[in-house]
Amino acid sequence: MRSLAAAAPPSTGTAAGIDLDHLSWSGVSTYNQCPKRFSYRYLEAAPEERKSAALIFGSAFHRAAEQVLQSRLEGRDLPDQASLLATYTGHWKEESDQAPEIVFAKGDDESTLLNLAERMLVAFLEHVRQEAQAEPQRRILALEHADRFRLLPETPPLEARLDVLELDGEDLLVTEIKTSKSRWNDQKVTEALPQLVVYAHALMPLLREIGATRIRPRFLIVTKAKAPVVQVLEPKADQRDVQRLREQLGEVWKGIQANVFPAREGWWCAACPFRVACQGR
Ligand code: SF4
Repeated sequence: MRSLAAAAPPSTGTAAGIDLDHLSWSGVSTYNQCPKRFSYRYLEAAPEERKSAALIFGSAFHRAAEQVLQSRLEGRDLPDQASLLATYTGHWKEESDQAPEIVFAKGDDESTLLNLAERMLVAFLEHVRQEAQAEPQRRILALEHADRFRLLPETPPLEARLDVLELDGEDLLVTEIKTSKSRWNDQKVTEALPQLVVYAHALMPLLREIGATRIRPRFLIVTKAKAPVVQVLEPKADQRDVQRLREQLGEVWKGIQANVFPAREGWWCAACPFRVACQGR
């Protein structure tokens, strides 16, 4: 049985010659970008040849941001900058030690990214501090919460991994933390909307269980800028977005079942961890 996220609870679903216990939004997006890359990662579990520095950066930043939120969850003082940077560098080292090669974007290296992380963490910490002061009634319920649900009867369950779950009165707030080169515009929000639909569906049982009446999914963007800003977006998804997600999921699953995994070349090949296996260079 292959799994797209090892820590998630078990469930089953099979396709012709392919056995996947669940799909994730990230897996669906990977298939849409390049089906062959999906196959390398999720079906063949091919070894990675390289790792993008942006990916390692994003996950190290997340780890430090989680430390801030964990303090709030436990009712402790927020950590200081030195402790957050230690978390960032520890995670960076752990990930980079395992990567055969790290691909940096033009003009970046380990030290420029460390400086960037420092600036972004200052902005994030200040944002969390201000939010806690402005809305003291909000209570963090869980961090890195994983849930599965079936959106279509014929596909494996979809797994949602939620960064932050909070209760605000009768509202269940779910926040996905992203890092981004620049502020998100309307088009970027529209592209990301299916992820919010996934979250809203995944949380319906919990909503009933805790007696909340509304789910408010939102994105929290921290920009990778000289002076980083924190942008909080709470877009509304409607039935058309749900339908769009169903169609996307159905199409992807049809392709997987039919063993359709063509190579789809594009700018993303530069940092593809399977490029040599795919293109021989
Ligand atoms: S190198 Fe490009 S075409 Fe090949 S698997 Fe990777 S993303 Fe797809």
